Amino acid sequence: MALSTREFDLVIVGCGLFGATIAQQFIQNNRKVLILDKRPHIGGNVYTELVEGIQVHRYGAHIFHTSNQKIWQYVNQFSRFNHFVNRPKVRYQNQLYSFPINLMTLSQLWGVTTPEEAKKKLETVRIPCDSPRNLEDWILSQVGKEIYETFIKGYTQKQWGRPPAQLPAFIIKRLPIRLTFDDNYFNDPYQGIPIGGYTPMIQAMIQGATLELGVDFFSDREVYRARGKRLVFTGSIDAYFNHCFGHLDYRSLRFSTQTLPQEDFQGNAVINYTEEKVPFTRILEHKHFEFSPPSPKTVITHEYPQAWTPEREPYYPINDETNMRLFHKYKALADQEKDVFFGGRLAEYRYYDMHQVIASALSAAKNMLHFHSL
Ligand code: UDP
Repeated sequence: MALSTREFDLVIVGCGLFGATIAQQFIQNNRKVLILDKRPHIGGNVYTELVEGIQVHRYGAHIFHTSNQKIWQYVNQFSRFNHFVNRPKVRYQNQLYSFPINLMTLSQLWGVTTPEEAKKKLETVRIPCDSPRNLEDWILSQVGKEIYETFIKGYTQKQWGRPPAQLPAFIIKRLPIRLTFDDNYFNDPYQGIPIGGYTPMIQAMIQGATLELGVDFFSDREVYRARGKRLVFTGSIDAYFNHCFGHLDYRSLRFSTQTLPQEDFQGNAVINYTEEKVPFTRILEHKHFEFSPPSPKTVITHEYPQAWTPEREPYYPINDETNMRLFHKYKALADQEKDVFFGGRLAEYRYYDMHQVIASALSAAKNMLHFHSL
């Protein structure tokens, strides 16, 4: 194909939530959009597929939540949402606990029965720290050693492959700690899962775009780039620049999914295994994300964190100092790149939730469409 053939206003690399949102905004404004994705399916990591009549979250649990009414209205244009509320449980040394930490958890641990008793007990176990510099210091200053060791230490070590003392506190601050019986994992007023899964929702968002799946942008980047006037890149920012300053680090995951000949395996969508010696962090039972009638089979997924290598999927950015320094070098290059926009969890190297990805994409699209008249 001739390099001058600019058939599209925009070429988007990656059909995850960021790419799909940008595509939707551009299509709505009558622009011609081409989306490329190296996977054989749309949706990126929010992809869901039907197995035994159950919507399976192939790349881990995705529970949509937001406190932004506009974002909630935005996603509800493309799918109806169910009323799922995330109430995971923790299993530690064969005991089950309510989670995130709430009055029921403290009652199970210590026998306290009122918020006042719980508060008093917490005062006695907290390890005060004037300026907590890492995840361990911060959580110890909130809840003390026993809770740290039961719920946080092993899970975090497994999840990130490094001790909590070497991780930033923001990772854990997403989890609420409550002295009421509220065990909703999220504080946001809007929460749910698209009925029928995320895949049809993404499909509705990208309606009108040209889609090429199973395509590796890097296999012929000049040709793909030349098909559009502008490019949106949602892959790893370091990959775009051929890792010229070295590789950014990520945390990867391995999912092991099985169909079981029983109606119910664990009675809940998510159970976290917080002991370090158990190699997985959580078991998902997908039917509990939905509110479908009982069925004779169930599908479960064990989630195993693993080190990232170039052959593996990068799931989580590691936002420590070393990697952030490296990221900023790539960001400086990205800022110079003409007519290319970088966005999403991998290109922005940020531990984004879905609603944050959408907010970021909506504002990027607005910027591109209205201020740069693309
Ligand atoms: N976390 C933990 N124990 C748990 C669940 C979470 O220590 O049972 C910590 C862990 O460090 C994790 C962080 O809290 O990385 C954020 O958890 P979240 O469930 O929000 O992570 P995600 O769903 O994005 O993997």
